[in-house]
Amino acid sequence: MKVIVVGSSHGGYETVRGILAEQPDTEIQWYEKGDFLSFLSCGMQLYLEGTVKDVNSVRYATPKDMTAQGVHVFVEQEITKVDPVAHTVHVVNHVTGAERDETYDKLVLSVGAVPFELPVPGHDLKNIYAMRGRDWAIKLKAKTVDPDIKNVVIIGSGYIGIEAAEVFAKAGKHVTVIDLLPRLLSLYLDTEFTEVLTTEMAEHGIQAATGQSVKSFAGAAGKVTKVVTDQGEYPADLVVSAAGIRANTAWLKDTIDLDAHGLITINDYLQTSDPDIFAVGDATLVPFAPTGQANRIALATNARRQGRFAAKNLLGTKIAMPAVSGSSALSVFDYHFASTGIKAGTAKNFDLQTKSVLITDTAQPKFVPTAAGNAKVWFKLTFDAATGRILGAQIMSKANVTANINTIALAIQAKLTVYDLAYTDFFFQPGFDRPWNIMNVAAQAAVKALQ
Ligand SMILES: Cc1cc2nc3c(=O)[nH]c(=O)nc-3n(C[C@H](O)[C@H](O)[C@H](O)COP(=O)(O)OP(=O)(O)OC[C@H]3O[C@@H](n4cnc5c(N)ncnc54)[C@H](O)[C@@H]3O)c2cc1C
Repeated sequence: MKVIVVGSSHGGYETVRGILAEQPDTEIQWYEKGDFLSFLSCGMQLYLEGTVKDVNSVRYATPKDMTAQGVHVFVEQEITKVDPVAHTVHVVNHVTGAERDETYDKLVLSVGAVPFELPVPGHDLKNIYAMRGRDWAIKLKAKTVDPDIKNVVIIGSGYIGIEAAEVFAKAGKHVTVIDLLPRLLSLYLDTEFTEVLTTEMAEHGIQAATGQSVKSFAGAAGKVTKVVTDQGEYPADLVVSAAGIRANTAWLKDTIDLDAHGLITINDYLQTSDPDIFAVGDATLVPFAPTGQANRIALATNARRQGRFAAKNLLGTKIAMPAVSGSSALSVFDYHFASTGIKAGTAKNFDLQTKSVLITDTAQPKFVPTAAGNAKVWFKLTFDAATGRILGAQIMSKANVTANINTIALAIQAKLTVYDLAYTDFFFQPGFDRPWNIMNVAAQAAVKALQ
């Protein structure tokens, strides 16, 4: 069996790894159009802040390691066409300019996405950057120490925009975050959380300019100097655009089925509309566990799960991938938060009637001093207003209690209700938590709210 895997980030890597684990004698050709195999944008903040020193270490695999495992690795070689009938791909070698066709038995596309470029006047000025991939990581790093960069404007307040804001605030720059939505991080957290985080960011020199839409970039001598919105103007020596992503799929539109946004539609076995072509990662629509419907969820966690299931299915083990809840976590200065599934603030996007309860408590019993790590915790549970089915949760604290959200992700996947969670046996030890875990407390409040 010959398998061609396209794309070397999370989804492509996990597919190759999965095939090697199950059937190491499979002939694997692994293609990356960029000049670097397997860069992980997830590690970018750690590199930009100096925790990780070497940008080239932010990866899963090197061509040398993978070649040693029998994988045929092709870097700077792009797949530009697929012929599903002939079972061939067209390869362009960007180093030599040579072109060729390669046959496959199974093809896996993990072609991912690129940052969305705002189509407004001035978008082609210098110093308008994105935050994805190794090339941008290197360019952004240079700007963190550039004394000419004083004002940084970030566009988009998802987790990538907030990571960028924190990087530049820590580098001593004045930072403004612009978002069309009325609150920072509003797709991840409800108001009770974002109010605290917005204050925390303001105290670290990050100004929020929310509920505004970018109209243009103004510049001088070819470089950006300010961002103009429908409500104001913000001086900018550097803009980091983190206003969403666009799937890398325009070249596939006549080959396999795509949705209106260019996302690849796949079945539970990761097959596209052509059964011998599989697709994983940010370019695909992912089944969302709280609703069972396909959704866009651009996370490495999904890409890796999908890669594992694609590997199994293409090798002949028919196994459906479980739906995911879009669990994610982030630190914002001293706070750590995580969220999964549906929030009160996003419920209106789904055809569901929900209720939510918010619990605030301390992470450990009150007698444990703050200096010993005790801290306030915010936990919000969202559930179906009729059945009590758990649909989502958010947690935030200066203590790292984020792992609770993984329990909620499991509860969503298993279709558990607040009645199940109210008295689940969670451990107690004052060094870690309280006699009633905050998830029990919230679920007990939810049971009352349903009476
Ligand atoms: C700053 C940042 C931080 C993030 N942090 C997290 C995090 O903490 N946790 C988390 O879960 N997710 C995180 N993510 C999201 C995560 O990085 C993505 O979900 C993940 O990279 C998606 O993997 P992918 O394989 O679908 O595609 P991509 O990462 O988009 O990679 C696709 C690869 O395919 C190559 N390619 C595309 N087309 C072709 C072609 N035709 N021929 C050859 N090669 C091709 C591209 O060059 C690219 O290398 C973060 C993203 C960013 C930008």
